[in-house]
Amino acid sequence: MVFGRIQEVESSVGTKMQNRGGMVKDIHEQIKLDTHWAKRYYETQKKVLDDYEKDVNKERRIRRRDCKTCHYLRNGVAGQALTRFECRLCKASGTNPNTRVPKYCNKCSEKFDMCAKCGAEMD
Ligand SMILES: [Zn+2]
Ligand SMILES: [Zn+2]
Repeated sequence: MVFGRIQEVESSVGTKMQNRGGMVKDIHEQIKLDTHWAKRYYETQKKVLDDYEKDVNKERRIRRRDCKTCHYLRNGVAGQALTRFECRLCKASGTNPNTRVPKYCNKCSEKFDMCAKCGAEMD
């Protein structure tokens, strides 16, 4: 039974919960820690939405031909590797500094005032 095991470990007292994903040593400490991380997650998300709403990097964003969603919300996990891609409109080929390749080249993106990454209207 899991609960019994937790209490057993609990008696070995006061150890810091740094081993994420390991055994739970002190369930109360663990809850406190995970609550902290959950709040941090909320705050991070909130900041991201704030940035989005205020469009804090507008200049840089436009220069990179990102719509607000791509720039603020979709900019996670991309491998750092020069990747070749082909524009879906004019078929021009280009290179991208990471593995999340854009849909369109910058030229088409500028011409139609759309996001190079996803093709949404630029705002
Ligand atoms: Zn193009
Ligand atoms: Zn986009």
